Amino acid sequence: MRIEQNIDLRKYSTMHLQSEGNIMYSPESVDELVNLINELNGDYHLLSAGSNSIFAEHVVKPIINLMNVDESMSFDGEVFTCGCSVRIQKFIQFAKEKGYGGIEFLYSLPASIGGIVYMNAGRGGDQRQSISDYLTEITYLNCDTNEVQTEGVDKSKFGHHISPYQNMNCVILSCKLILKKQSLEETNSLIKKRLDLCKKIQDTSKPNCGSVFSKGNKYIFKLFQLLGTKSGGAKFSKKTSDWIINTGGATATDVKRLVAKMIRAHKFIGADYKVEYKFFD
Ligand SMILES: Cc1cc2nc3c(=O)[nH]c(=O)nc-3n(C[C@H](O)[C@H](O)[C@H](O)COP(=O)(O)OP(=O)(O)OC[C@H]3O[C@@H](n4cnc5c(N)ncnc54)[C@H](O)[C@@H]3O)c2cc1C
Repeated sequence: MRIEQNIDLRKYSTMHLQSEGNIMYSPESVDELVNLINELNGDYHLLSAGSNSIFAEHVVKPIINLMNVDESMSFDGEVFTCGCSVRIQKFIQFAKEKGYGGIEFLYSLPASIGGIVYMNAGRGGDQRQSISDYLTEITYLNCDTNEVQTEGVDKSKFGHHISPYQNMNCVILSCKLILKKQSLEETNSLIKKRLDLCKKIQDTSKPNCGSVFSKGNKYIFKLFQLLGTKSGGAKFSKKTSDWIINTGGATATDVKRLVAKMIRAHKFIGADYKVEYKFFD
């Protein structure tokens, strides 16, 4: 297991915030992870690809980097099994080679399978779809008992960017999925469609962590977008509603100030909201 101290955390979050971490552990197997969780006694942050994670200027708690725990993928002719550390693009390409698909709407996420299951990532709007539509079974480490458990997926417990694992003390280790039979050409075309759409509507000019809120008022989002409200190096994107971009040297404090402003605006008009970003202190 790799252990690093006093680490520059910029590259571990897609927002590339100025941040330093005390210590990061990178377990390379489930056994190493189980031992580590046992040792750390509940005091740690779980990190995967960092596409939804905002690091404080100084992260004191140990960080467990899950990107090397399980990078396996397999297919038994019906069901796919995928380890938590696999990047979604790699898994979609693997399924494509086997003649299956359906989750190309996730191809644009700079994310891992573990993070995607935890967040129940997907797309909203009229074409609402998420990873849980395809999941059949999850294997996770129960951090209360330190036991590896496997359970069938109860789809009624998932919602838009909601998974039951957000209320559990656990690490998602792997999942099973049933995908649609789909030709290679169809998958390639759906991937291209997704990437073309993202190029058109998403602000890729600067580092970011995608949408700030998973629930909120679209008029407030639009207002902040039009104003391009700023704090230090963080700024609401003028291209994409509800996105904060790092224009250079942004810190978690800058991001938090912007999020707080957006929350105040929601409270002012009594609108419902839910912050999607995960903050690491
Ligand atoms: C350019 C861009 C586009 C995006 N587009 C979308 C989109 O279209 N739809 C969408 O839903 N999201 C989108 N996102 C947000 C993000 O990609 C998702 O939330 C994704 O699911 C996060 O996965 P990750 O591996 O990066 O997780 P991280 O950011 O590393 O972690 C996110 C949270 O999950 C927890 N976690 C991670 N792995 C595990 C695990 N194995 N077990 C338990 N907990 C875990 C972490 O502790 C943290 O709380 C986008 C982000 C970016 C930067």
